Amino acid sequence: MEKIIKSDEEWRQQLSKEAYYVARKKGTERPFSGEYYEFKGQGVYTCVCCGLPLFDSGTKYHSGSGWPSFYQPYQEDNIEARRDISLMMMRTEVLCSRCNAHLGHVFEDGPQPTGLRYCINSLSLKFVSREEIETQDHNSGE
Ligand code: FE
Repeated sequence: MEKIIKSDEEWRQQLSKEAYYVARKKGTERPFSGEYYEFKGQGVYTCVCCGLPLFDSGTKYHSGSGWPSFYQPYQEDNIEARRDISLMMMRTEVLCSRCNAHLGHVFEDGPQPTGLRYCINSLSLKFVSREEIETQDHNSGE
């Protein structure tokens, strides 16, 4: 996948202050505070930085963790996993494969069929509804 590389300054201009802190500086939003935590819309969650599709609403589930949780990425290639040993914890960080945005972490206590829990900051995501996707597809097909 072709990478999107921008300077800190460019990301800062493009993103809200909160999204910049989480997605570009590996921050974490407060649990239960994110706009997508209890959100149930049908569509695709894309990268707040570059728009790459990251998770489908069909794989979102209620984990009780305080962050939006998914059991599977939209496409394996769209997400990159990296070992993270910060905060004295052994965790696996997940990032957008295209722009390296910090998304959250993946844990092995999720539901079947994967057994994975992608624990993701709402601030790293931008939801696009099925209707919006259909309109976009329709327009680009003309
Ligand atoms: Fe991205």
